[in-house]
Amino acid sequence: MRRATALLLLVCLPFLASCAIIPIFKPAPKPTAAPAKPAPAAVTATRAQVLMGTMVKITAVAPNEILAQAALTAGFQEIRRIEALISTWIETSDLSRVNQAAGQEPASVSEETFALLERALEIADYTEGGFNIAIGPAVRLWNIPEAPRIPSDMELEIAAQYVDYHDIHLDPTRRTVFLEKPGMRIDVGGIGKGFAAEKAAAVMQEVGASGGLVAVSGDIRVFGKRADGTAWPVGIKHPRQPGKILATLDATDEAISTAGDYERFFIKDGVRYHHILDPETLQPARLCQSVTIVAPDGTTADGLDTGIFVMGPVKGMALIERLGVGGVIVDAEGRVTVSSRLRNRVQLTP
Ligand code: ADP
Ligand code: MG
Repeated sequence: MRRATALLLLVCLPFLASCAIIPIFKPAPKPTAAPAKPAPAAVTATRAQVLMGTMVKITAVAPNEILAQAALTAGFQEIRRIEALISTWIETSDLSRVNQAAGQEPASVSEETFALLERALEIADYTEGGFNIAIGPAVRLWNIPEAPRIPSDMELEIAAQYVDYHDIHLDPTRRTVFLEKPGMRIDVGGIGKGFAAEKAAAVMQEVGASGGLVAVSGDIRVFGKRADGTAWPVGIKHPRQPGKILATLDATDEAISTAGDYERFFIKDGVRYHHILDPETLQPARLCQSVTIVAPDGTTADGLDTGIFVMGPVKGMALIERLGVGGVIVDAEGRVTVSSRLRNRVQLTP
């Protein structure tokens, strides 16, 4: 899975380890007050590595350096493990085997892959098919950004016969996946990074991190607090002004994911062609420049950002409100809308 570079970027990270120290000359506590307990010291460690074809950056906050480093290592290992299951660039992965068996037979997959596909199909229904993991044959034709070219109408008409997600059959009893037609191809590019970030955050907590941030390109999952007890500041990139931050928000125990048309694209004859395809037309979706979703988990945030990008600002914002998640949408003209849940949390950059 070749992945884009970050759509969201961290505005600032707590690189400095901090520890809460009881002031030496603090006033004597009042007799009625409970004795002040020293806050546990916390250290911060950060590491970056290329995984899933993109830059993965993880920060861990833990009571000591050993635990912080162990949490980082566990987080990266988990992402590597998930990549081996769901990457279609790895021939032996669950999804490669599912795709190879298209039209022939069901393929059995791991619990994690099965759960991811179940969630992906739910999000397909929520987004009225805007999010569609059966889009694989069309993604291959466009092949953005590796070898960008505009596919012919004939090519797209043929691909259109193989992109119906209702032709993906999940059997929970046998834990198998069957693609009804040969030529079908599952692509989890629109949800896999958020899923991986979610999994990594979970193992980091198991290892003993009290706080952390996992950024798989633009798919971010945070948990707990930074070492100084504050939330994690996250920035949303401006879709048309490189280097500019459109908005910031402070995040705790949630996922923030952005889909945009500004990092994996090419321009031909003045028209922008990018990597999020409208499953109805198999052309790049045209109604948004970027969609950021804030949701309790990374899988939901990543799946919804892609699907809502396709639905467009009006239907997309209605869905955001209905699902009770947060969202920031930049429409095709550059107008920004912020969902009701985020209105008091998001600072738009002037
Ligand atoms: P990014 O990869 O830039 O973080 P997304 O989360 O929006 O952004 O994922 C885009 C990827 O999703 C594409 O590269 C492609 O693999 C896949 N994709 C494209 N169109 C769709 C779609 N309509 N539904 C689901 N996945 C899609
Ligand atoms: Mg996505």
